[in-house]
Amino acid sequence: MSSVIIKGLYKKYENGTVAVSNFNADISEKEFFVILGPSGCGKSTLIRMIAGLEDITEGDILINDISVHSVPPKSRGVALVLKNQTLYPNMSVYENLEFGLRLRKIPKEEIERRIEQVVGILDIGAILDRKTAALSGGQRLRIAMGRAIVQDPKVFLLDEPLLNLDAKLRALMRSELKTLHRTLGKTVIYVTHDQAEAMELGSRILVMRNGSVQQTGTYQELYDSPVNLFVAKFIGSPQMNTCEAELFSNEGRLWLRFGKGYEIALPDTPDSAGLIKYSGKKLLMGIRPTDILLVSGNEEKDHSAISMTVESVELLGTHVNLRLSGEGVGFMVSSPITTRAKAGDDLKVYLNSEKIHIFDSDSERRIN
Ligand code: ADP
Repeated sequence: MSSVIIKGLYKKYENGTVAVSNFNADISEKEFFVILGPSGCGKSTLIRMIAGLEDITEGDILINDISVHSVPPKSRGVALVLKNQTLYPNMSVYENLEFGLRLRKIPKEEIERRIEQVVGILDIGAILDRKTAALSGGQRLRIAMGRAIVQDPKVFLLDEPLLNLDAKLRALMRSELKTLHRTLGKTVIYVTHDQAEAMELGSRILVMRNGSVQQTGTYQELYDSPVNLFVAKFIGSPQMNTCEAELFSNEGRLWLRFGKGYEIALPDTPDSAGLIKYSGKKLLMGIRPTDILLVSGNEEKDHSAISMTVESVELLGTHVNLRLSGEGVGFMVSSPITTRAKAGDDLKVYLNSEKIHIFDSDSERRIN
């Protein structure tokens, strides 16, 4: 049974802005499903339509096989947690937790039972009597989650809940959310613009741009096989290197030419033949910073190595990022921390041809 199915969803605001367009997704029960995209791409609009806070212009959303068109928002079994979570400041934590349940006329004993359970899960027993105005960012988020959990929803909708926390707390709350998802065993739809959050939390990630779906998959699938340039650049840090390139064949092999005269042979794969039609066309070549290797002294005879110069070195705990420049091309390279290169050094690098991505310059779709 699928938990949430989104079919051909379309949203046009009254001022004419199309925020969501031809949007399809199939979210499994108990999945931690992340919707990842830059600010303004329509994530909040989407989540608000699932919650029933925003009208659907066209299309449908099914929650446990029932169309939301036939179910009022409060009966959809969804609970929403927002980035600017507004708790009632003059109420205690306990009162914040019970408020929604009292509105829904849930019997007192049931309210007490649910709150007791949530207090145990979130470890908030010590702050139940505190006014929420006096809580820290992390505590406020726990209470906001608590308020969602006591509603016993089928689906949690989380809209950038960690946005306003500092980096350290964000990391802590990410791991708390992961544990919470395991404990509760419920479907979570989580919206963010932050790929680190998406990578850590999502069982699958949907990449969104300008209101529509670019690609859905695990982080690894998006990283290894992005369908287009947008996904390729949005996933992975530092970003995938890209440069203009031209395809040609020579002695039965396909080659890419890039920069001012660099050439690299592509691996012979079953689908290489399909690439021949792109010969002479303007293409973009992409390679991740981890797929460019510095050639050490004893490998120098490797003909596929190219010469480049180190522009700058960024030291980062476990690795270094080197910015390299060559003839008409610049690459970022990630290497182990033991790399001894410094700015101004000339060195040779080897591009792993198995890991080269090729994009059509016009459609920006990946073609290999
Ligand atoms: P995100 O959550 O990804 O930042 P939003 O869903 O908030 O994106 O916004 C998507 C687009 O819809 C943006 O162009 C935004 O300006 C527009 N938008 C959002 N809310 C409204 C509204 N109430 N009326 C008109 N346009 C809106």
